[in-house]
Amino acid sequence: MTFTLIFLLGLALSVATRYYLASRHMRHIALHRDQVPAEFASKVTITDHHKAADYTMTKLRLGLFEIALSVAILIGFTLLGGLQLMHDFTLDLMGPGIPQQIALLVSISLITGIIDLPFSWHRQFGIEEKFGFNRMTPTLFFVDMFKGILLGLAIGLPLLWVVLTLMTEAGQYWWVWTWFVWVAFNALLLWLFPTFIAPLFNKFKPLEDGPLKDRIEDLLKRCDFTSQGLFIMDGSKRSAHGNAYFTGMGKAKRIVFFDTLIERLNPQEIEAVLAHELGHFKRQHIRKRLIQSFALSFLVLALLGWISTKAWFYLSLGITPDMNGYNAGLALALFSLVLPVFGFFLTPINSMGSRKHEYEADAFAAEKSSASDLITALVKLYQDNAATLTPDPLYSKFYDSHPPAPLRIAHLQSMAVR
Ligand SMILES: [Zn+2]
Repeated sequence: MTFTLIFLLGLALSVATRYYLASRHMRHIALHRDQVPAEFASKVTITDHHKAADYTMTKLRLGLFEIALSVAILIGFTLLGGLQLMHDFTLDLMGPGIPQQIALLVSISLITGIIDLPFSWHRQFGIEEKFGFNRMTPTLFFVDMFKGILLGLAIGLPLLWVVLTLMTEAGQYWWVWTWFVWVAFNALLLWLFPTFIAPLFNKFKPLEDGPLKDRIEDLLKRCDFTSQGLFIMDGSKRSAHGNAYFTGMGKAKRIVFFDTLIERLNPQEIEAVLAHELGHFKRQHIRKRLIQSFALSFLVLALLGWISTKAWFYLSLGITPDMNGYNAGLALALFSLVLPVFGFFLTPINSMGSRKHEYEADAFAAEKSSASDLITALVKLYQDNAATLTPDPLYSKFYDSHPPAPLRIAHLQSMAVR
């Protein structure tokens, strides 16, 4: 019974924290809605500033509703017996074994996916449309969805099969083996993603010869960076938001620009944005993140290995386990439902680490390219993404993976005048 209490307390505390932070954020934005912050006054119009405030508020309001709904779903699955019901139903239908456990896990993601569908739809065709960012058609929305489901099944089912087999057959230390599988699986995905997965959703064409390409190749040489090519992605078929990213590992690294970014920024600005991304590589951020995530998954699996053998874990969350039979599927389902409740409290640590990396990458860009070009690029991107320039400081400290706009620009400015 005590774990029921811990679970409910953790849930209440995480929901209260989310609501508190969101309400602070909303109040802060509303308070600063009528004036562009002084340091942006010459660059951002009041119309854009209003738009950013309204866009952020609209997304926050939907988010609050989704939090409430997700709590209801979580309680429904656990304490109210939803998971037990599905377990009994699939057990009657299929008998014990790995197929039943897979059926249980697939049904859970199916149910949560169906509940999420109207929200994804509303985000795309309600909110993004209203603020002029949507470029997606309903057909593309469903095509993406079905591709995503097929891909999830093609990749997820074999992985689940291996994990469930290890859980039932590999003895007490199954979780160590599972960890090795998980690491190998992620390495495989890193390799598959740029060459096989991303092209399922977007077209990639090599950056054409010209002044932009020359400029970028100069930068790559200056930074002593080898890549397998520069690509432009047709991001505009879904959204007006612009971006740039790296994918792949080792020598197979690719640099990808959204076409929306190329349209919006001038060559100097594109170079500065790329220099920032290169900074993440050169300062070993990508490697550190990867090692961190593998270390974290080791701990999480160790916890699962331990907790899945405890009857109280199931009983206190509304499940009657058969401790002599197959509990792997149940354990996995319950664990993945409950873990985020507690994992939420690690968010600020993760955000803090990420913001530190952003400052370092900005410093790299200032050194190898130009701080002032990065500033003008960022201001354009804030505008294009209708990102708020006036976040609540506490909200930002908790969630933001990037420093809030005024601090980030000030940091860059201090390097530009050097
Ligand atoms: Zn960055």
